[in-house]
Amino acid sequence: MPSPKNIIQTQRAFFYEGNTSPIEFRKAALIKLKKLLNAYQEELIQAIHSDFKKSEFETILTEIAMIKLELRKHISNLKKWSKPQKVSSSILNFPSKDYIYKQPYGVVLIISPWNYPLLLAIQPLISAIAAGNCVVLKPSEVSSNTSAVIAKMINDNFPPEYISVILGDVEKTTEILENKFDKIFFTGSTSVGKIIQKKAAETLTPTVLELGGKSPCVITKSANLEIAAKRITFGKFVNAGQTCIAPDFIWIDESIKDDFLIILKRTIVDFYGDEIESNPDFPRVINNKQFLRLEKYLDNGKLYFGGKSDSNTNYIEPTILDEISFTDLIMQDEIFGPILPVLTFKNLAEVVNHNHENEKPLAMYLFSTDQTEIKNFMTQTQFGGGCVNDVLSHIINDKVPFGGFGSSGLGNYHGKFGFDAFVHFKSVVYRKNWLDFKIKYAPYAKKSGIIKKLLSKF
Ligand code: NAD
Repeated sequence: MPSPKNIIQTQRAFFYEGNTSPIEFRKAALIKLKKLLNAYQEELIQAIHSDFKKSEFETILTEIAMIKLELRKHISNLKKWSKPQKVSSSILNFPSKDYIYKQPYGVVLIISPWNYPLLLAIQPLISAIAAGNCVVLKPSEVSSNTSAVIAKMINDNFPPEYISVILGDVEKTTEILENKFDKIFFTGSTSVGKIIQKKAAETLTPTVLELGGKSPCVITKSANLEIAAKRITFGKFVNAGQTCIAPDFIWIDESIKDDFLIILKRTIVDFYGDEIESNPDFPRVINNKQFLRLEKYLDNGKLYFGGKSDSNTNYIEPTILDEISFTDLIMQDEIFGPILPVLTFKNLAEVVNHNHENEKPLAMYLFSTDQTEIKNFMTQTQFGGGCVNDVLSHIINDKVPFGGFGSSGLGNYHGKFGFDAFVHFKSVVYRKNWLDFKIKYAPYAKKSGIIKKLLSKF
C-alpha cells in the first residue's frame, strides 16, 4: 500500500482536477457505497459479532439501519444541499446579487472509534462524499475484524486517489497526521481529541470532534418510573454500555430511589433473563484491556444487582451500583461499559449547579412529567444533546444536529448538518456595473454629514 503521504498527494491532484465536483459523480459514489454495504452486509454482521459477540438484530438496529437512512437522505437531497444559496443583498452593496457556495474542503481525514465500528466510520464518510471531498478513512485498530472488512469493501471498490482506508494503530495515525488535510473529522475519546486538535492547530486545519464524557440520567419525583426503567435499561445495556451517549449514571431524587431500583432490576431480568451470560442478546466488552479497566469499578459503592464477570470472555453482567458518590473511582471517568452507578439528590438545583461547575456532557437525560421543571432544567443546563423521558433517541433524528459541548465535542453532524460539516460556506457578492455610488471613495471631505443623515434612519 502506498504511504499516507503518497495517497494524500494523489487525492489532492484528483480533487483539483475537478473529479469530485459534479453532483452526478458524488451521487454515483453514494449509490455504489449503498450497493457495497448490501453486498457486504453479512460479512460485516459476522465481523461485528467477532469483535463484540453482538446479536444480528442489535447490529442491524444500531449500525446498519442508521447508515441506510443516512444514505437515503444524502442521495435524495444532495442536489438541493449543494446548490449555491441565493440570499438577499445588503443595502450598502446595492445593486448586487449575493450567494453562499457550498464548496468541498478537498482532502479530508476521518478517524473513527471501535464502539460502533461500522456506523461511526461510514456515517461521516457518506457526508464527506456527498459534499464532494476525497477521503482518507482511519477506522479503529481495536475493532480489528470490522475494520478489516471496511478496508476490503472500500479499497477494492474505490480508487485510492478518491477514497482510501488506511488501517493502523496510534503510530500509523500519528504518521497520517503528519500530513496536511483540509478538514479532520474525529470521533473518539476526549483525551485523543485534544491530541488531534493540537496537531490540527499547527496548520490551522478545521476539525469536527465527536468526543465522550459522563452523560447523566436525571430522574425526578414526577417521572413515570416504569417507562424510565425500560428506556434506561435499553439505552444503558445496548452494546454492553459501550455507547458514547449511554446514560453514564443515574441521578435520582432520593425519595423515589428505592422504588425505582426495584423496577429497574425487574426490567433488566425481563429483558435479558436470569442467565445473562448465556443470553446471545447481550454483547461482550471489546477486549481484555477495557474489561480490566471496568472490573475495577465493580466494588465501588454497594452492589445492588449483577456484578458477575469473566475475564476469559470479557463478560460483565449488567450491574447496578447503589450508594455512589462523586468521589468514587467510577465517577472519575466515562464508564463505557454495562455498569450503572446510582446517585441521589435532594433538590434538582444540585444537578443544575453541578452542570454549571463541571465539564459539559455529550448527552443529558431528564425523566420528568412536570412541565415547569422540564422547561427550567432545559434553560439552565448545558450539554451536547439529549432527551426528555428517553435516552439515546436524539441520535436517530437526522433533522437535529449531533455533537458535544466543550470537552464533549466541537461541531456536529447527521443529515444536512453532516453535509454542512464537510463544505466550506463561501460567500460571494456579485456587484453590478451600471451604478457606482461615489460616496465611499476618497476624498471624504464634506461626506460625513451625508452618511450620518443616512444612518440616522436605522
Ligand atoms: P480513542 O480516542 O482511543 O480512539 C479513536 C481513534 O483515534 C482510533 O481510530 C484510534 O486509532 C485513534 N487514536 C488513538 N490514540 C491516538 C493517538 N494518540 N493519536 C492519534 N490517534 C489516536 O477512542 P475509542 O476508545 O476508540 O472510543 C471510545 C471513545 O469515543 C469514548 O470516549 C466515547 O465516548 C467516544 N465516542 C464518541 C462518539 C461521539 O459521537 N461523540 C461516538 C463514539 C465514541
